[in-house]
Amino acid sequence: MNPQRMLRQSLEDLQRAGVSHVPRQMAEVAALLNQPQESASPAESPAATASLPQEQSAPMSQLSPLSLCSSLSLKQRVSRLKSQAKQVAACTRCQELADTRTQTVFGVGNPEAEIMFVGEAPGADEDRQGEPFVGRAGQLLNKIVEACGLTREEIYICNILRCRPPGNRNPSPVEASNCREHLEAQIETIAPKYIVCWGTCAAQNLLGIKTPIGKLRGQFFDYRGAKVVCTYHPSYLLRNPPAKKQVWEDMQFFRKDMGVNLK
Ligand code: SF4
Repeated sequence: MNPQRMLRQSLEDLQRAGVSHVPRQMAEVAALLNQPQESASPAESPAATASLPQEQSAPMSQLSPLSLCSSLSLKQRVSRLKSQAKQVAACTRCQELADTRTQTVFGVGNPEAEIMFVGEAPGADEDRQGEPFVGRAGQLLNKIVEACGLTREEIYICNILRCRPPGNRNPSPVEASNCREHLEAQIETIAPKYIVCWGTCAAQNLLGIKTPIGKLRGQFFDYRGAKVVCTYHPSYLLRNPPAKKQVWEDMQFFRKDMGVNLK
């Protein structure tokens, strides 16, 4: 989806969630994209009137920083997530996945989470239970979360894909692209300050890069104002336990930035 469509959809989502006016900065972003401004004051631009040119492109960083979405109330976030989950449950963009899934796996957690985890795709356990990270990898993730001084309920967890690829194969680029709109909608609703990408698929798809996961570790990337940290997927840790040390370093790295020193 091009940036204009994404911004327009964000504004429409906000309207559906009951937001009748958008912050001044968001209206200014729309103005940057040559949105016709009919009302006198950008601060009072009704979300419903946003219409954007089709061809013009703009860097993602110019699109509504996530902090602009963080003013949503808990009720509005819950309502948006419910509506998004409903759309996902009916989604058949990836025909093979839609035909073979038991159910879609939308995401779980705190709608006001500061930290969002993004994994790859549901596996067999997730497909059965309808929740991300519930198998052996999920149990390991829970231990990591606990060791970080957090609870699973404080975090929001989802995946690049919301349907299980048959045989747990890797998501195809087309599938990741198909599901991007759902991911974006969830990220915009949660508006996290930190995003942890678990594994290559999550990191490369979210950031739109091809760099190997090993080279993405130990630094923050910016994603619309959120700090993104990349680390190995818990499934990889099950196959390669020595890599737990590096994941722990990554947890120390981002928790330190949050003012929490992990021993
Ligand atoms: S993976 Fe995402 S885009 Fe593909 S069918 Fe499932 S919900 Fe739709």
